[in-house]
Amino acid sequence: MDQLRFTSTLLDFLGASPTPFHAVRNLRNLLDAHGFAEIREQDDWGLLPPGRFFLRRNDSSLIAVGLADSLLAETGLRMAGAHTDSPCLKIKPAPAQINHSLLQLGVETYGGALLAPWFDRDLSIAGRVLWQDQEGAVRTTLLDFKRPVAVIPSLAIHLNREANDQKPVNKQTDLVPIIMQTGPDQEADFAAILAAELLREHPEARQAKILDHELVLYDCQQPALLGVNKEFISGGRLDNLLSCFALIRGLIEADSRQNCLVVLNDHEEVGSMSTCGAQGRFLQSVLERLIPDVSTRQRCLHKSLFISADNAHAVHPNFPDRHDKGHLPRMNGGPAIKYNAGQRYATSSRSGAFFRLLAERAGIPVQEFVMRSDLACGSTLGPITAAELGVTTIDIGAPTLAMHSIRELAGATDPWYLARSLQAFFSTAADDPVWQCLA
Ligand SMILES: [Zn+2]
Repeated sequence: MDQLRFTSTLLDFLGASPTPFHAVRNLRNLLDAHGFAEIREQDDWGLLPPGRFFLRRNDSSLIAVGLADSLLAETGLRMAGAHTDSPCLKIKPAPAQINHSLLQLGVETYGGALLAPWFDRDLSIAGRVLWQDQEGAVRTTLLDFKRPVAVIPSLAIHLNREANDQKPVNKQTDLVPIIMQTGPDQEADFAAILAAELLREHPEARQAKILDHELVLYDCQQPALLGVNKEFISGGRLDNLLSCFALIRGLIEADSRQNCLVVLNDHEEVGSMSTCGAQGRFLQSVLERLIPDVSTRQRCLHKSLFISADNAHAVHPNFPDRHDKGHLPRMNGGPAIKYNAGQRYATSSRSGAFFRLLAERAGIPVQEFVMRSDLACGSTLGPITAAELGVTTIDIGAPTLAMHSIRELAGATDPWYLARSLQAFFSTAADDPVWQCLA
């Protein structure tokens, strides 16, 4: 696949993946189309034969594996991970409220969202709904309204003259979207709205009884190439669906003679502590089933490397002083290797050397990121996975601006660099000298 085609399929994927559920469904379809067979946690796999497999947990996390041989203790696993979730506004369980003839929805903030950009956007609603049909059967449906149905209007500047002087956003009272104008006798019934929306795409959902939902708001504006020379990608959820897509494409296009694994976890933005988060033992349990013998598994992990891919902060031309002077990642400059003395990133000199050598041979530029010493450093699922598995890990990511905004900005070439570096990693033979970095 060439770069142009890669980028256009990435944009399609981003636009079609408003929630982790949708992202996992789309990646599942992609893996399925490339010969990966789905296996399920509830089934007995026995010992898996060589081949390409994937499995899901909670419909929002996914592991894909390429097994080349059963000599894992000698050849190790090439592993990489990213997260499927992004900061957003999540609709509360009983959200509907009528105020001044307007139906509004109560929302919670999910993750460390930049809130100001959520105002005055054409918002839609998507997520997972569980419902009961007329016969009493329980169904699970991924719902996506796909059209603008909600908005959080700003307060006019005439009513707040200080609006431009750093006004804090109250998460409970300022961020309540309007979804409908109501008549005098109308009730606040969100379940009825959901049932009607279900029926639009599912004729069998007549008289559906909504049991529960996990729905979020998202920006209807589609991702786009931006800049005079189309050198940027602008869109929602670049952190971290960009990496999810690059990892899966890298795996699909890798040399299938090596043992590889990709894990995509939900709930990274809220601390990873959930059944499908990086602390939820999803990866550990799959590894335990792939390699049941403890000693063999430990020997395998000792020969393995884990690449944690999550976006990095590109230097912002209006705020260059937010960066360390010696570490100024730029967009389209290749993946940034992320370092932190406090182990908020898992990179060591070993994993750093490994990745630099790998990228150099593949003709991919790399950069370094380290936080200013007087600013708190973010983190990723890299250190969590490194600590849980005891596997040598590196943190890398595509340099990004406006991280955690409703619309983020990245270089158009960086996702391609990321996918190619992962493809090279997944194709690395066990006797390749690059593994000497871990010896
Ligand atoms: Zn992230």
